[in-house]
Amino acid sequence: MSNKIPATLIPGDGIGPEIVEATLAALDALKAPFEWDSQVAGLGGVKSAGDPLPPATLDSIRRTRLALKGPLETPLGGGYRSSNVRLREEFQLFANLRPARTIIPGGRYDNIDLVVVRENLEGLYIGHENYIRIDDDPQAVAMATGINTRQGSRRLIEYAFEHAVATGRKKVTIVHKANILKALTGIFLDTGVKLYEEKYKGRFELETMIVDACAMKLVLNPWQFDVVVTTNLFGDVLSDLVAGLVGGLGMAPGGNIGRDAAIFEAVHGSAPDIAGKGIANPTALLLAAAMMLDHVRRPELATRLRRAIDETLNVDKVRTGDLGGSASTAAFTKALVSRI
Ligand code: NAD
Repeated sequence: MSNKIPATLIPGDGIGPEIVEATLAALDALKAPFEWDSQVAGLGGVKSAGDPLPPATLDSIRRTRLALKGPLETPLGGGYRSSNVRLREEFQLFANLRPARTIIPGGRYDNIDLVVVRENLEGLYIGHENYIRIDDDPQAVAMATGINTRQGSRRLIEYAFEHAVATGRKKVTIVHKANILKALTGIFLDTGVKLYEEKYKGRFELETMIVDACAMKLVLNPWQFDVVVTTNLFGDVLSDLVAGLVGGLGMAPGGNIGRDAAIFEAVHGSAPDIAGKGIANPTALLLAAAMMLDHVRRPELATRLRRAIDETLNVDKVRTGDLGGSASTAAFTKALVSRI
């Protein structure tokens, strides 16, 4: 019997195929035990199957329950709905895990090591929006409805607490705006504090913080944070802020985790401005692949991959243009593979 782990591979749009190729080269060198089923989505899905999220892609993830995904293009305004948001809904990927760790020292912030856990399905992201007409202006008033549930808040916060315990984190900060959005974010705060008292007291320190103060403290003294857990919109904003602390989106991986499936990706988009030029930085997707190895309980392979990335960037000083270097994607990949 094969002991390979079936996984769906979505090369994605723009620089997606280039950074996926680099990541597969590294995973091959590691002899990572994945058996890939390659599928299309996004613009690639529209072009080859007339659908940004073709049924074959969904069927594949239903079967494998695990995917590595390149960035997918979403048209602004009209066109189709984001395939990323649809994937999260389809597979109930309620937790978005965004670790941020300094890899290249000597930047603005050294020794950063924190993780943002963002609620991925509720809040203001549910997209219930409408306009109200007043006289002859059909869009005189814009409205959006946010929904947070006790059950949804609990499963996300419980995931964050379990992650904190499993990874030996010392502190969890629940970030909210319950002074103003008393119901919408109050339910999240209240659920988190009660869950802590009920099951987690003494296993790590719990702190609660209003989102605006959190943004300021992240810039002034990010080292005071360890795990940040928050609602969908706040998590979206804060996790990009945190990616900025460690060198930008080119270094930021993300995991979308549910009870039945998980999809790993780079946080950045398809970078159409540099697509096809062979200069994209594959580090974020490589770090996402390392998260995927942790997820399938192969932490020794994840550690080897992270160490090889560190050494390629810092010992060999092979870096792509976005990091101030001059290496092509292929040259970076070659150097990385020789470190594995
Ligand atoms: P982007 O992240 O694609 O690009 C922003 C800037 O960062 C560009 O200058 C780009 O060249 C640079 N950049 C991004 N990744 C890089 C890398 N790996 N190496 C070197 N430089 C890199 O953001 P955008 O331009 O706003 O979005 C482009 C498309 O991507 C849009 O259609 C958007 O919807 C989509 N998108 C997809 C995802 C996803 O699939 N998870 C996430 C964000 C955006």
